[in-house]
Amino acid sequence: MELNLKKINTEDNNENKTEKMIIIGAGPAGLSAALYAARAELSPLVFTGMSLGGQASLTHTIENYPGFPTGVGGAELGELFQKQAERFGARFEFDNVTEVDFSKKPFLIKTYSKEYKAETVIISSGASPNYLGVPGEKELTGKGVSYCGTCDGWFFKEKDIVVIGGGDSALEEGIFLTRFAKSVTIIHRRDQLRAGKILQTRAFDHPKISFIWDTVVEKINGNTAVENVLIKNVKTGEERIFPTDGVFVFVGHTPNTDMFKGQLEMDANGYLQVDTKMQTKISGVYAAGEVMDASFKQVVTSAGWGAAAAIQATRYLESQE
Ligand code: NAP
Repeated sequence: MELNLKKINTEDNNENKTEKMIIIGAGPAGLSAALYAARAELSPLVFTGMSLGGQASLTHTIENYPGFPTGVGGAELGELFQKQAERFGARFEFDNVTEVDFSKKPFLIKTYSKEYKAETVIISSGASPNYLGVPGEKELTGKGVSYCGTCDGWFFKEKDIVVIGGGDSALEEGIFLTRFAKSVTIIHRRDQLRAGKILQTRAFDHPKISFIWDTVVEKINGNTAVENVLIKNVKTGEERIFPTDGVFVFVGHTPNTDMFKGQLEMDANGYLQVDTKMQTKISGVYAAGEVMDASFKQVVTSAGWGAAAAIQATRYLESQE
């Protein structure tokens, strides 16, 4: 097993203290784990990365998290989760974990500025949006290419935009973007959507939304701003230029697991492997949420897994006493 230790130095953090639990990531899984661990009086330390609430915080309204019959803002839900965990003693650091060493106990966790020790670790580092990987995409990111409708929609008032993808994200964000855009054209590589039925019905019924089926984007063109996309019908092979002011890409996600390569088991797509009790191959190290979930990826399932991981980690700590 190759270990990712090279860059870790031996300098301890100021207090030279071993934490009972460190949680990496503060999406629904990490924040729920924090709540449960805090209520078990473990005073968990949560590294949030640069944002709180994970991908859910980038969603304008979450309509399928139980307990909010009229929906709840994604960012607002993250803040509520945090407040609830803090009330019982969870601690939050707005820092990125850069390296881990699970080869000996206590485990070592390194951030940009410090090194920490922990008896247990819950990994809830989530997933990041995939790129399309076509010419022009990188160059025009921030100049009309975006991966977040909630963040950037406002810039496209009365503009014509395209959305790439056929999953829940593409439709949800596409529908949201109709608040600003003059038109939203959803370009999907098949002739059937992957998204759930409610979103499909809303999108089909929306006067501003139209679809281009069986089609992929091959290139995004523009100098200082997006001007058009080169699209290709995958059935006929026909290529054409489609004028647009903006390109919103929602073509799935990749789990944030690079840091754990060589230390933890993952599947071919990089999802961490855990047993039914959320434990990785290393006792004391657990994973929860999209970092281990290739199937469901819902706020409610991630929150549930986070709670389960914290309960199991608590049992593990008790067994070590
Ligand atoms: P997803 O379900 O994996 O869908 C990705 C979409 O992008 C698919 O339609 C896929 O096409 C298409 N795609 C992938 N690679 C492509 C490429 N290179 N070029 C063109 N198209 C490409 O991802 P998601 O929509 O981000 O959703 C992720 C998870 O979060 C899902 O489990 C979803 O249910 C969940 N989610 C739920 C909600 C909600 O419940 N309201 C909201 C957002 C997300 P194919 O269909 O042909 O594979």
